[in-house]
Amino acid sequence: MRATFGTGRTKELSWRLGQLAALRALLTEEAEALQAALLADLGKNPVEAYRAEVGFTINELDHTVTHLEEWLRPKPAAVPDAFLPADARVVRDPLGVVLIIAPWNYPVQLALAPLVGALASGNAVVVKPSELAPATSAALAGLLPKYLDTDAVAVVEGAVPETTALLEQRFDHIFYTGSGNVGRIVMTAAAKHLTPVTLELGGKSPVVVEPGADLEVTARRIARGKFANAGQTCVAPDYVLAIGDTAARLEPYLAAAVRELYGDDTAANPGYGKIVNDRNFDRLTGLLGAGRVVTGGGHDRSARHIDPTVLADVPPDAPVMSEEIFGPILPVLPVPDLDAAITFINDRDKPLALYAFTGSDRTKERLTRETSSGALTFGLPVQHLAVPELPFGGVGASGMGRYHGEYSIDTFSHAKAILDKPLD
Ligand code: NAD
Repeated sequence: MRATFGTGRTKELSWRLGQLAALRALLTEEAEALQAALLADLGKNPVEAYRAEVGFTINELDHTVTHLEEWLRPKPAAVPDAFLPADARVVRDPLGVVLIIAPWNYPVQLALAPLVGALASGNAVVVKPSELAPATSAALAGLLPKYLDTDAVAVVEGAVPETTALLEQRFDHIFYTGSGNVGRIVMTAAAKHLTPVTLELGGKSPVVVEPGADLEVTARRIARGKFANAGQTCVAPDYVLAIGDTAARLEPYLAAAVRELYGDDTAANPGYGKIVNDRNFDRLTGLLGAGRVVTGGGHDRSARHIDPTVLADVPPDAPVMSEEIFGPILPVLPVPDLDAAITFINDRDKPLALYAFTGSDRTKERLTRETSSGALTFGLPVQHLAVPELPFGGVGASGMGRYHGEYSIDTFSHAKAILDKPLD
């Protein structure tokens, strides 16, 4: 990889666009193979697999191809009078060899959307898919070399020992998506080589619901964001902070929204996903003890199925409130007012996303100013990540760095300062 980068080939715009075109061909020609792998790994139904993984990545790629030349144009900088005549500009330099470590929950999107940014920026890339989505990992390992420049893009499959061995190598950037615990291991390994990292982590993303919001629409949108992929989405609503009397009024709407989305027998619905493995199944069923079940609660270990579950009257110190849920369980906690909701949020780690359903501009302003989170979305959980001009990333415990669209070019390039003063 390093020798290839040394030839300068990957820096050419034609190489970058060629690789992106080849990746687009892979995504369209091999969509069915990828959908089959996602069905095997996560019970992800093919429509959802296309929308959230293959199609999502194609959109990200198309947006990048449309704007790449414009993004790569040197940006002129003003020169102070004392140095005139002189010219100053910023150019985006590829970093070199980049490592992308992907998780299992959106194993196509979270391996290939960063790859789009890394290739568009002119880097050689090593991709390490997650061993916990083995069919997808094998599909990526088989397909990427068929389409892409094998001297500049490699897939390394494996679990902890293989990733540990990879992390001993010197990379020019490491882009990691996964849990904070492993994020710390990645950052420690990177420090040895002074390698910069992007850490796309998780955490508990709260939803604030105000009494004035249309609770039917609110419940439907929360349920859709929460229970897609059986709740195994880094930006899924984790819990609801229901202000005033909202909790009791919201509960029946949430139960109705789950029924509308998945029917009465969610175990029999092929549109609903399964839990990735037994370890996560056991962890999640262990969280079910707290509070009163509004809807769901059923589970079947042999099918790794857990019903979409809404819990009410959950004490704030229950286990389900102390770790990221990352599964189809939604606690609803009543809070007296917006001040209490803001205090609750600010007393905890900074979330990857904060969601609010409110009709009040004042509330929107207060949440914008008084809380810190990777993203803040009013009225539509999860979908900020599908707006390519918005940066995607966390803050504090939910991560560092950002990507998507032009932000990926920032992440995978060095902004090199150039000052050019004539000699005469
Ligand atoms: P994980 O940390 O267990 O695994 C992610 C990757 O790290 C895998 O490729 C795995 O092989 C590797 N890995 C695991 N243990 C390792 C070790 N000891 N040393 C080196 N590498 C190791 O994470 P996960 O369970 O796959 O994902 C769940 C977490 O990821 C959740 O917290 C979720 O919120 C977060 N997540 C974040 C985003 C985001 O975009 N911010 C997206 C998806 C998931």
